[in-house]
Amino acid sequence: MPRVLLATRNSGKLVELKRMVAGSAIDGLQIVGLTDVPAFPEAPETGATFAENALAKARDAADATGLPSVADDSGLAVDALNGMPGVLSARWSGRHGDDLANLELLLAQLGDTPDDRRGAAFVCAAALVVPGGAETVVHGEWPGRIIRASRGTNGFGYDPIFVPEGEDRTSAELDPDEKDAASHRGRAMRALLPHLRALVG
Ligand code: IMP
Repeated sequence: MPRVLLATRNSGKLVELKRMVAGSAIDGLQIVGLTDVPAFPEAPETGATFAENALAKARDAADATGLPSVADDSGLAVDALNGMPGVLSARWSGRHGDDLANLELLLAQLGDTPDDRRGAAFVCAAALVVPGGAETVVHGEWPGRIIRASRGTNGFGYDPIFVPEGEDRTSAELDPDEKDAASHRGRAMRALLPHLRALVG
């Protein structure tokens, strides 16, 4: 059975990516994670764009394992911060992957920003690299706004302070299915599904 590697070391993302690919019912495609393949070193994320980083991560994984590999690079683009933290979202506080410190720093930075200028969007680039074959990059965006205090326990990262457009709840208060249906990652993964189906032939 053809296998596809979901190449992410972020457990929050892995949960969502697995859920989406499994939920899309692509018969005959086996999904594996990084714990199912021999370990390989993580390259530093140096790209200037989400697309560059997603492609670099998927290429590294495909080169190391010989498997078709999917990687996502994503983050939060805040209007009042001219699009930052952007590609620096995971390490905004200076410590990679410290979700709470990143969120608290962002809230402090926006302390004096009025409610009508708190717009933001989650952005995701997802890449599929097939060894010796095609490279595909797709995008998804999820517009909304940043509130002043955390609410909700679902999801990860900045979810507790992001209220999607048309919602009163934060993305950490949405059910997993609701988040997948609307989120940046959900949109990007749905754009990637035809390319994953093509792997089965
Ligand atoms: P990277 O793509 O591994 O560089 O990290 C993405 C970072 O963006 C995560 O560590 C989170 O801080 C943030 N992020 C991306 N997607 C989401 C999401 O769906 N919810 C909350 N935070 C997210």
